[in-house]
Amino acid sequence: MALLEIRNVVKRFGDFTAVNDVSLSVEAGEFFTLLGPSGCGKTTLLRMLAGFEQPDSGAILLDGLDMSRVPPEKRPVHTVFQSYALFPHMTVRENIAFPLKMAGWDRKKIDSQVDELLEDVRLTQFGQRYPHEMSGGQRQRVAIARALVDRPRLLLLDEPLSALDAKLREQMQIELINLQKEVGITFVYVTHDQGEALALSHRIAVMSHGQVEQLDIPERIYSHPKNRFVADFIGQCNVLEGTVKAVEGATMVVSIKGCGDVKCSTVPGVVSGQAGWLALRPEKIKLDKELPDLPDEAYFKGRVHDCLYMGDVTIYIVEVGEGVLVEAMLPNNIPGVAKFFDDHDLVEIAWRFDAGSFLTE
Ligand code: ATP
Repeated sequence: MALLEIRNVVKRFGDFTAVNDVSLSVEAGEFFTLLGPSGCGKTTLLRMLAGFEQPDSGAILLDGLDMSRVPPEKRPVHTVFQSYALFPHMTVRENIAFPLKMAGWDRKKIDSQVDELLEDVRLTQFGQRYPHEMSGGQRQRVAIARALVDRPRLLLLDEPLSALDAKLREQMQIELINLQKEVGITFVYVTHDQGEALALSHRIAVMSHGQVEQLDIPERIYSHPKNRFVADFIGQCNVLEGTVKAVEGATMVVSIKGCGDVKCSTVPGVVSGQAGWLALRPEKIKLDKELPDLPDEAYFKGRVHDCLYMGDVTIYIVEVGEGVLVEAMLPNNIPGVAKFFDDHDLVEIAWRFDAGSFLTE
């Protein structure tokens, strides 16, 4: 049995449907992320898990029990917010101890539990400090420790790192991964940051307009997006319009509009004549003055349209047909060489045909 099961949940605000028939389940011990652009309904879904909002229809089950009549404070669920929500007049220890004090635990048990949590979030030396004497990252670690102190079944995290600068955010991401592994509590994490979702999660549900577009492990979400929305939303992606010309077992031939034919992996149910898009990540593309025409690769000739030097990589925009632009990303791994090609250079590009995904929607 899954720890958390969301069954056909719908939430409306007046005429507007914020969450539209979402069903998914989360396993015990998972780091599960709801990812999507602003307004896609991820926070509303999280708030229903916490009990702050009620679904209009559908059910939320935790450990097999329907939560619909269980108020937020009675659910074995805690939430960590972007804004930390710490008590300013209490020390770090007092903040973390607060839920246990409210639950009537005895002093000794509280002390040992707080010590354990301070160690988990690496703040043992900071117990006597007040929130205003700590950095944003440290404050967020206190908020997480407080939310974990009575060992909830589920920890909900609503964009907890978005107030931190990029460097600190990366550091906190590593800490969150390690903390979740250590405490083994199931995390449901909300973010609009795709990099963060890919780095942290065991599985990701990508949401748009109140619905789940794709639910999978990060590697598959990234390398095999299910539709154009996911391909566009997660990282950079070339999306080339085309039509299936022939299906030959595990491979099919796709005619790319304005360019020519390429092979790609067959998609179940897709037949000859089907219109769609070939999705291809820039870093999957090889680029050189000349490339061998290999049997397991797709291949186009083109001309460099633009180059963007990014330090670790250079992005080349290559025109492979009348107005058809493909972005290729090459690592700058030769010391002293920033760019291998220049605008207007004639080049060839190639990619393993199974690196592309044919999308029908
Ligand atoms: P963000 O990242 O900006 O918080 P989100 O994906 O978390 O976005 P939600 O906060 O779940 O989105 O909101 C989804 C939609 O529902 C939005 O269009 C929002 O305006 C609307 N909405 C949320 N709460 C309410 C409310 N209490 N009353 C009316 N509309 C609401």
